[in-house]
Amino acid sequence: MEEYNSVNLYKIKRLLKELENISGRGTELISLYVPPRKPVYDVINQLRDEYGTASNIKSDQTRTHVQDALTHIIQKLKLYRQFPDTGIIIFCGYVPSEINPADEELKYYEIVPPRPVPTYLYRCDDHFHIDILKSLIKEEEIIGVISLDTSEAGFGIISGDRVETVEVITSGVGSKHRQGGQSARRFERLRENEINDFFHRVANHAKSIFIDQYPIKSLIISGPGMTKEDFYKGDYMDYRLQQAVIGLVDTGYAGEEGVRETLERGESLIENLRLVKEKKRVDRFIVETTKKDGLAVYGLNPSLNAIKAGNAELILISEDLDMYRLEATCKNCGYQTEKYVNEPELYQERAQMSQTSCPRCGKSLWSIKVEDVVDHVSDLAAQIGAKVEIISSKSESGVMFKSFGGIGVILRYRQNGINN
Ligand SMILES: [Zn+2]
Repeated sequence: MEEYNSVNLYKIKRLLKELENISGRGTELISLYVPPRKPVYDVINQLRDEYGTASNIKSDQTRTHVQDALTHIIQKLKLYRQFPDTGIIIFCGYVPSEINPADEELKYYEIVPPRPVPTYLYRCDDHFHIDILKSLIKEEEIIGVISLDTSEAGFGIISGDRVETVEVITSGVGSKHRQGGQSARRFERLRENEINDFFHRVANHAKSIFIDQYPIKSLIISGPGMTKEDFYKGDYMDYRLQQAVIGLVDTGYAGEEGVRETLERGESLIENLRLVKEKKRVDRFIVETTKKDGLAVYGLNPSLNAIKAGNAELILISEDLDMYRLEATCKNCGYQTEKYVNEPELYQERAQMSQTSCPRCGKSLWSIKVEDVVDHVSDLAAQIGAKVEIISSKSESGVMFKSFGGIGVILRYRQNGINN
């Protein structure tokens, strides 16, 4: 699966916020989840059936709205030869217009989710069904767990705050205490061989579970005592899994109980993993800003200037920036102007903008476009091949980053003495 980047996630989260607040006049908002590999014509045929069924709707307005939306979705789906690897999610229906809430307009949202859509779902309701999409973006990272001692090993998956045991195997290794009549050395050697065999079996299971079944990038080894250390240090696993180990965690039990315990006891490890990548980027940014002639600028205008000059390698934006760009174009003469505003002032500024007269022709006939600064910056970044990363606002490094104005750029080259 293609790595899903933070900008896409940000966009889905923002869309979810928007969709959550929409309610339809009637039962007329369509949610459609299509799993991967479902043929396009299959979906289109199903939607044509729904179109037929909709002709039974009594309310004229609702019927027209539902059928309009279905027609629109079918047209859009026809543009696909096949759906993306993770499937596709569509929300469509008449919603109150942004400009005049008494009016309604047909809205169409199409989302390619970061994880595969689990099952086909068609719903027509007075709200959009967004829960499945929510769960698809929550499970950002799956982490493998092996919880073992000398008697058993449990294999599990942690995703978000859920944990699931996939398999448990037992070792067959005898107890530590030798039977009478056996020589101590012989007993030790036999036991060591048995443990060695068990570790190889654990490694084989780990390979089929964590490489073939549930590909993971991070692995935790847990369990009571020293067995986990012996297993890890002995290099039994496939090198890919060996490299994926993010830590060893002490638990009271091994096996299924151990897997469950790992989620609790490994919490800081797991949380860290999510934050480490982000921290690296913020740290690099801060190092550059504190250096004399460092390769970074921050704040909205310096950042935009650097990006427009093509001098940006990595652009960092706080998820809390909440800033919008208003672009007004005079419908009479084509004069253009832009303004950046914070969310609370958005509507007021927009109204004000529409009332001013054009400095070129004196008319006030504006067409006003509103876009999230994240979108605007992402478009500019794409033109110059720069990367954009959204920085969370809750982590320590995220809070620190926010204090730089919520947006910053790591530059490609030094600017001519005018950094900030
Ligand atoms: Zn004008």
